[in-house]
Amino acid sequence: MKIRDILKIEEPHISFEVFPPKTDAGYDSVLAATEKIAALKPSFISVTYGAGGGTSKNTVSIASHIKKDFGVTSLAHLTCVSSTKEVVHQVIDRLKEEGIENVLALRGDIPAEHEFPLPNHYRYASELIEDIRGQGDFCIGAACYPEGHVETEHKKDDIINLKHKVDCGVDFLTTQMFFDNHILYNFLYRIREKGITVPVLPGIMPVTNKKQIARIGGLSGTILPERFRAIVDRFGDNPAAMQQAGIAYATDQIIDLIANGINHIHVYSMNKPEVAAAIIRNLSEIVKN
Ligand code: FAD
Repeated sequence: MKIRDILKIEEPHISFEVFPPKTDAGYDSVLAATEKIAALKPSFISVTYGAGGGTSKNTVSIASHIKKDFGVTSLAHLTCVSSTKEVVHQVIDRLKEEGIENVLALRGDIPAEHEFPLPNHYRYASELIEDIRGQGDFCIGAACYPEGHVETEHKKDDIINLKHKVDCGVDFLTTQMFFDNHILYNFLYRIREKGITVPVLPGIMPVTNKKQIARIGGLSGTILPERFRAIVDRFGDNPAAMQQAGIAYATDQIIDLIANGINHIHVYSMNKPEVAAAIIRNLSEIVKN
């Protein structure tokens, strides 16, 4: 099913995200975790795409299992900055062969070791989106950044660039994670005012261990509210308590979003079926996926 049709359903829905293994050795365990997440019947499962190597080649394969074997709609991420256009076209052909209808079209982070853009490479996600549009009947999603993308100095320029990207053929947007819902509400107000009307799926990350917190710290610009910091200070060194508190914090964010009229929420479940299951349990009377 195309995600743009799922997003027309005016009932609360949760989708989840998994990432492919870094090496082929981890493939079976990722697939097993994905199957457990699929058993929770989310509205869809997205599969991230690495810049190269094992992770990128496994994205289409895992997305295909999700659809064909686990009976859940899948969304394959595709980044373009580190590959030639020919390689990207080969991935698009594989998506078509596997009957995957939904693509999250991304630029990817600029590799530090190359000049940018390289000849015969894409510069921005908008170019990839135009290309995918021309190559099949895909439902295309793209990324957006409620706190602004790290490379853009002024948020207003980021929104101008986002408007251009959406106009290239985007069906829906998924946000970068955020930990204060007011940031999302403010962002929605600003983009709607600029004529960006496609559905926006807030991306919620249940932070369940200290390592994740260090990674989030590396995403410059992500504001960590006092309430969140207090949880990490108190429970960061106690893995079980941190997991419980992180799931509760994410649940709280989701309930607030739904209470404010946002029906579709994407959860960065990070290959952790137990975290995904706890979120679904916490929302059992609110979300009937
Ligand atoms: P773009 O939309 O191209 O934007 C990149 C920057 O260029 C922004 O600062 C934008 O304002 C600017 N820009 C865009 N168009 C123009 C223009 N015409 N003129 C001037 N400036 C312009 N990374 C992965 O490697 N794999 C993944 O699976 C993955 N999944 C993600 C999922 C989500 C929901 C999100 C939010 C991010 C994800 N990322 C992933 C990270 C993403 O690849 C990086 O954040 C990357 O730096 C930007 O990608 P983009 O598609 O947003 O780029």
